[in-house]
Amino acid sequence: MSIEENISEIKKTLPKNITLIAVSKTKSVEFIDEAYNTGIRDFGENKVQELIDKIDKLPNDINWHFIGHLQTNKVKYLVGKVSLIHSLDSVKLLNEIEKQYKKNNLTANVLIEINIGKEDSKSGIFVEHLDELISACETCEHVKVKGLMAIIPKGHENVCRKHFGQMKSIWDTLKSKSFNNLSMEYLSMGMTEDYELAIKEGSNMIRIGTGIFGLR
Ligand SMILES: *Cc1c(COP(=O)(O)O)cnc(C)c1O
Repeated sequence: MSIEENISEIKKTLPKNITLIAVSKTKSVEFIDEAYNTGIRDFGENKVQELIDKIDKLPNDINWHFIGHLQTNKVKYLVGKVSLIHSLDSVKLLNEIEKQYKKNNLTANVLIEINIGKEDSKSGIFVEHLDELISACETCEHVKVKGLMAIIPKGHENVCRKHFGQMKSIWDTLKSKSFNNLSMEYLSMGMTEDYELAIKEGSNMIRIGTGIFGLR
């Protein structure tokens, strides 16, 4: 199927309140243009250099989502370029984002990435460290937390559902409280293989790569 057909098939199944992010990592500008022409305005990239290279070649009404692990020394390249950073996972990274955005008098919109399955291979903070990170966010002047993000471990449907459910319950708990600089607008979870389940469990932002652009 073409990119256009893939997108229209996915969109048919999506409830209205879901933001669909087309994950375009490793894919060419031509492919992104094809998705753009179907109306997609949210694109996700996981490498800073690749993202920067693409931004200049594509329309400027795209909302770019940085979804990869972010090294502190690369933060400066993202300032003013992305609409949402999905991968805040340490106080150290937070401090660098605050510093770089302050320099430019801009505000970063971020999601806190949680390593909900506690996998060594994945980034994201453990739930136990969430309070500490949120406290640090409350003292910032140039960072706004807009929600949570997770990449769950591959596994059987029941286990996946459990992880998505845990994320939703953390999100709900935070939403019911009041913190400086924090509003639970987005729950970013679900990829090609598991987005339908993620939505059932409460996701409102899905990140689809393969299902739109084909295998990488
Ligand atoms: C690559 C990637 C995706 C998309 O994965 P697919 O399985 O191709 O849909 C989603 N989220 C993150 C963080 C990714 O790195």
